[in-house]
Amino acid sequence: MERKRILIVEDEPQIVEVLQAYLEREGLIVESTGSVAGALDAVARLRPDMMILDITLEDGSGLDVLRQSGANGGGIPSIMLTARAEESDRIVGLELGADDYITKPFSPRELVARVRALFRRLGERTGTAAQHATRKTRVAELEIDHEFHEVQISGKPANLTATEFRILTLLVENPGEVFTRSHLLDRLNDDGDIFERTLDRHINNLRKKIEPDPHNPQYVLTVYGVGYKMRRP
Ligand code: CA
Repeated sequence: MERKRILIVEDEPQIVEVLQAYLEREGLIVESTGSVAGALDAVARLRPDMMILDITLEDGSGLDVLRQSGANGGGIPSIMLTARAEESDRIVGLELGADDYITKPFSPRELVARVRALFRRLGERTGTAAQHATRKTRVAELEIDHEFHEVQISGKPANLTATEFRILTLLVENPGEVFTRSHLLDRLNDDGDIFERTLDRHINNLRKKIEPDPHNPQYVLTVYGVGYKMRRP
């Protein structure tokens, strides 16, 4: 199997050094940079399979990297490093397409577990896409192209992140079936405690992108006290 490439975007050399050692031990090809400019250059040149993205960088914010690298909409899967106090950074980062976050200070082992979990989630997504190659699914005004990982709502593209696309695909393939949060997490092949913290946020972001009125959802429905389900076509 081809080795995966991971880009560390962080300006603190000690953190980079430790993460690099741990991630290389996982068999990953690791590159690092401490600046927004360096990250954008590395994204174009290296086409990494994943980014570890700090918020505070030499010349700006990790959020700038998400905004400018096209990480939004089928972009590069990302895990943010954030300060415990900066909840707004986490919220903005997840909206901009980051898939997960980890709060500083963290153990390198915990970060490696997050990286593994995200690769696992993405791996299953790829398998699902392969099964459904060339197939499109339509639910009212929502159209999902499984081959190209594209979603349109009323004919306009909705730029979903990899995680949002996986959640939507799972719900759409089981119309009317109620997914509890733990069932959803289980089917998304996640470690549970990792993804659970961000599941509601991913659902909210998904609704903002596909629902005509996110506060009154027509597609991704809440079943109060139970979980979520997709409306029937
Ligand atoms: Ca930093």
